[in-house]
Amino acid sequence: MLSLSNTLTKQIEPFRPLRGRSVRMYSCGPTVYAPAHIGNMRAYLFADVLRRVLLLNGYRVKHVMNITDVGHLTDDADAGEDKLERAAAQQEKTAAELADFYTQAFLRDLTRLNILMPDALPRATEYITEMIALVERLEQRGYTYTTADGVYFDTSKFDAYGQAFGLEKALAGDQAGARVAVGEKRSPHDFALWKLTAPGIKRQQEWESPWGRGFPGWHIECSVMSRALLGQPFDIHTGGIDHVAVHHTNEIAQSVAAYGKPLAAFWLHSAFLTVNGGRMGKSEGNLITVDELIAHGIEPLALRVLVLGAHYRSPLNFTMEALTGAQHSLDHLRAICRDLPKPPARVNAQLNAKVRKWSDAFLTAVNDDLDTPHALALTWEVAKSGRDKTATSACLAYADAVLGLGLSEVIGKQLVVPEEVMALVTARETARIEKDWARADRLRSQMEALGYTLEDTKNGPKVRAVEKGNTMPTSR
Ligand code: AMP
Ligand code: ZN
Repeated sequence: MLSLSNTLTKQIEPFRPLRGRSVRMYSCGPTVYAPAHIGNMRAYLFADVLRRVLLLNGYRVKHVMNITDVGHLTDDADAGEDKLERAAAQQEKTAAELADFYTQAFLRDLTRLNILMPDALPRATEYITEMIALVERLEQRGYTYTTADGVYFDTSKFDAYGQAFGLEKALAGDQAGARVAVGEKRSPHDFALWKLTAPGIKRQQEWESPWGRGFPGWHIECSVMSRALLGQPFDIHTGGIDHVAVHHTNEIAQSVAAYGKPLAAFWLHSAFLTVNGGRMGKSEGNLITVDELIAHGIEPLALRVLVLGAHYRSPLNFTMEALTGAQHSLDHLRAICRDLPKPPARVNAQLNAKVRKWSDAFLTAVNDDLDTPHALALTWEVAKSGRDKTATSACLAYADAVLGLGLSEVIGKQLVVPEEVMALVTARETARIEKDWARADRLRSQMEALGYTLEDTKNGPKVRAVEKGNTMPTSR
């Protein structure tokens, strides 16, 4: 039985879909004005593991992730500039060109990290009409007010504001302190539903509306697109922990106020990837992209190993040493897989019992609120057990459905080392015997340039492929 930590109740609850065997899941996606960093990718890796665990449990999954291509302001308090408009002006591109470019870059990162493609990737700009309709509905129901610069959600009219996540006390504290910039707003927690283009300004992305020319607030897109594509309520909503207090609280306020129903049954939030204990982020100036990992000779899948090694609700401190360690683990696991037979298409009863015992333990681990550190430990245990190779092969193929490390593709694929590389290995052995370490190192570098690496074992040198073939950046 799958159990998940639900931010609504702060409890680990048994999960069952609202309807039959299909799970409808929505993940807040990227704002496409800059490359995503590996902190962002942690949030998407978490959603991917969740999706894979649902599939392992035999559910069908419909996964929607939005692409924010308008309306996300540099300041979460509804002031500041639109991130896309600003980046476009700085780079002398159109907002649409920039959005296309960074959407493609994002999709490439998903692929490199072996993240299953969402079933739908709606863009905010495709749902402007529906967003205007939702704001009108909220207006008719008395939940809004209009100022000189936009239409705002009036949190004083929605008694349950912040209650979904148990934030009402914390929010009341803010109100009393009133230290937050309010601008045109009546309360710091009110938020923009529709922003009007400032007089005398021509924005690249703006639309006519009943309130005047402008663009949507950031939160409204998720309420609209999740409902349009998944219905309301749907099963699971995911995002990073930073979304709880504002973005998700506001999504819930809009959707519940408009339709009198919850937006989603389960809300799951992943913790930050940190650097020296602080959040990795653009404003922190400490971000690393997937392209940069590759430039450092690290495979994107090594990041996947690193992220799987921490529970999604625990902060994960990033260091290059930890990532290099993850790369070595991945290389080692693949080498073990290569030495195994292909997973059997059919298993006899005896083998089946062995595999079953192990796969049940693996399933229990991932079903325990996605305990991937435990699942990885079990995977290493079986990989190193050296017992029944056919059973091990079947177990690793099973695990890989969740781990997504591409193990299934290498199981049973003995490495065919080209003659040219074997010649370098032999030459290096000779150099070593002659204690000509400089020559030995040079020969090793030549091998590595050809995509192979080597480990000296007590049985002689062991050659491994450096599996980076399909992961190099397309431009750099
Ligand atoms: P953004 O593009 O800033 O809206 O962020 C996209 C996603 O990445 C959101 O779900 C954030 O919660 C998440 N996120 C941002 N920074 C980090 C970080 N350092 N570690 C983990 N997740 C993050
Ligand atoms: Zn969202």
